[in-house]
Amino acid sequence: MSAERKWESYIRKVVPYIPGEQPKEMDIIKLNTNENPYPPSPRVRKILEDFDYGRMRLYPSPDAEILVDAIAERYGVKPSQVFVGVGSDDVISMAFMTFFGSDKPILFPNITYSFYDVWADVYRIPYRTVPLRDDFTIDPQGYKCENGGIIFPNPNAPTGVLESVDMIEEIIKANPDSVVMIDEAYIDFGGQSCLPFVEKYDNVLVIQTYSKSRSMAGMRIGFAIGSERLIKYMNDVKFSVNSYTMNTVTQLCGAEAVRDEEYFCETVGRIIATRERSKKRLAELGFTFPDSKSNFIFASHKDKPASEIFEELKKRRIYVRYWNKPMIGNYLRITVGTDAEMDSLFDALEEILK
Ligand SMILES: *Cc1c(COP(=O)(O)O)cnc(C)c1O
Repeated sequence: MSAERKWESYIRKVVPYIPGEQPKEMDIIKLNTNENPYPPSPRVRKILEDFDYGRMRLYPSPDAEILVDAIAERYGVKPSQVFVGVGSDDVISMAFMTFFGSDKPILFPNITYSFYDVWADVYRIPYRTVPLRDDFTIDPQGYKCENGGIIFPNPNAPTGVLESVDMIEEIIKANPDSVVMIDEAYIDFGGQSCLPFVEKYDNVLVIQTYSKSRSMAGMRIGFAIGSERLIKYMNDVKFSVNSYTMNTVTQLCGAEAVRDEEYFCETVGRIIATRERSKKRLAELGFTFPDSKSNFIFASHKDKPASEIFEELKKRRIYVRYWNKPMIGNYLRITVGTDAEMDSLFDALEEILK
């Protein structure tokens, strides 16, 4: 590029987050972005079929009331305790903007969702990462110091490691002066949620998404539950940026999906069963991994470097996620797909590792 223009020196420059690949081909096995292998609830399909397209003329409801009410009912909280956004990425981004305004550093794990440092950078929020223990668990001691806020996923990504609610409460108790956010993107796959803490501590925000356990990554629905006080602050910021973020169809589909508890339990149950079977197969193939309570397994092979396995799988049209980064450079993050998809993966791995 040519020399920097004067106006370029005024720009908010950032290094963007890099999402997992979304290849164009349909005939691949896609185990790289933790999507759900099953379609959403059939009740969602009905909503789409019945939708009167003439409604697109009108702006959507700015407060997404139908969706907020359905989520509040499902989780047993007041609608005024629910914030919805366009994917939990939107929700977390809004939460960073709203709550992390101190000049003290916010804290999150050194190995975690790689969007956190990007949001911190884009909003000019100082941050410090806290090392995980060698077994990838969170050490609560690292969060008992002055800070401008705390965020971590539970289970953590990309490790899949679930922390106990008792350990998390220990962190919350040590931090009455900052907002503590728990990103529960994967909690439905066998973890215990921190939702009860939002009634006990008004500085705790729990964030969840429809992208994984509810099979709706393409619709973009995320939500946060917290005290009325926290949610009010978030809504004030949201309505100061863009009131109409979530479209009408999405609001209706999201409300219907969260009402179909039976389908949700069935598909989540299937993924958990496939995950447990996959752990056994991966171990037989010589992989080691921290025990996962999510819809992915973070695995390392005793002989073959992860980067090579990654490339070999890609040649066979199987996509998993690999990061060439310190500490995790010999791991593959493998999304749990259908049983058939996992069997194809194991066949390919057998061949690659022969
Ligand atoms: C997938 C994921 C999200 C974001 O999901 P959305 O699709 O934006 O709802 C947030 N946090 C973690 C840890 C995730 O893995």
